[in-house]
Amino acid sequence: MGRLDDPAGRLPMHGFDRGAPEWMAPMLRNCARCGGRLVYGPVAGDERDRYRCTECGHITYVNPRLVATTLPITDDGEIVLIRRAIPPGVGTWAQPGGFLEADETVIQGAVRETLEETGLEVEPTGIVGIYPQPRASVVVVVYTAAIVGGRMEVKPETLDVRAFAIDELPWDGIGFNTSLWAVRDYVRSVRPDLDVDRLGTEQGDF
Ligand SMILES: [Zn+2]
Repeated sequence: MGRLDDPAGRLPMHGFDRGAPEWMAPMLRNCARCGGRLVYGPVAGDERDRYRCTECGHITYVNPRLVATTLPITDDGEIVLIRRAIPPGVGTWAQPGGFLEADETVIQGAVRETLEETGLEVEPTGIVGIYPQPRASVVVVVYTAAIVGGRMEVKPETLDVRAFAIDELPWDGIGFNTSLWAVRDYVRSVRPDLDVDRLGTEQGDF
């Protein structure tokens, strides 16, 4: 077995302050349990500094959220992508998906989000990869998925939904690194003749 690639590990880890992305700072001022002020520093029994409530002692952990997504594949081997209508990445192409809800499994979340964003009913068939993006504080799970029902249509969260042949993929319009890595990994698996690492451009932050 070869070593797994970790593409996010090649990107600069700038924009972090006190163990979290800087944009998260306003959410790390007060305790969710009692409203007390949080301080960042050493806590007993932990190797890392943590956000601890000065009133009740509750620790606020900062952990990435899971994003459940699919690459729906048509019977002709085309890949369904959406053009995003909501931030971040408005106007860019990505695979359908979204934040996992607390009361669903990862597959349930991926299937639900794909239906919401494309109108397609899908069944995951395998895992393309698991892609961290620490700057955005997310981990993106990407499934390959068979299309088993529904009808492809533009939804409120999308500007466009299209099935792309491998040779027509909008490489330079893919907005998120995690989407670019997933599409590259999938295409690499079905078209080893293509040098996919030369296609598309990695961005700094997402
Ligand atoms: Zn508290």
